[in-house]
Amino acid sequence: MALLPIITKENELLREVSKPVDRVTKKRKKLIKDMLETMYQADGIGLAAPQVGVLERIIVVDIGEGPFALINPSINKKEGEEIAVEGCLSVPGESGYVKRAERVVVEGIDENNKPVRIEAEGLLARCLQHEIDHLDGVLFIDKLV
Ligand code: ZN
Repeated sequence: MALLPIITKENELLREVSKPVDRVTKKRKKLIKDMLETMYQADGIGLAAPQVGVLERIIVVDIGEGPFALINPSINKKEGEEIAVEGCLSVPGESGYVKRAERVVVEGIDENNKPVRIEAEGLLARCLQHEIDHLDGVLFIDKLV
């Protein structure tokens, strides 16, 4: 495993729309492991591939309930609204209130190319929405309330 440099908001790669992944290869599995290590090292609860300069639709998450990766995630259902404070490893030193859906259903594939469906609420729902935004070039500072 290896630590990857996390790019910050001045880097315009963070504003690009990332490409769907056709298949999780060995190389991408290694990327996922490295992303998780990088996230833990930086004390984060989520990390999206564009934050390490890779414009592919891959995110990793661990809100304290164990790590997982999600590839080509899409939000297929949103319910409720909740305003809470967010920060971002690519926006160091800043935080602010963002309105998100309170509950989401997210579908994608896992690191073994198996379809997954996650019903999330609260912090996990917020984290997933934040990371999926990264795949579309959106940062939380665009959404401050
Ligand atoms: Zn972020």
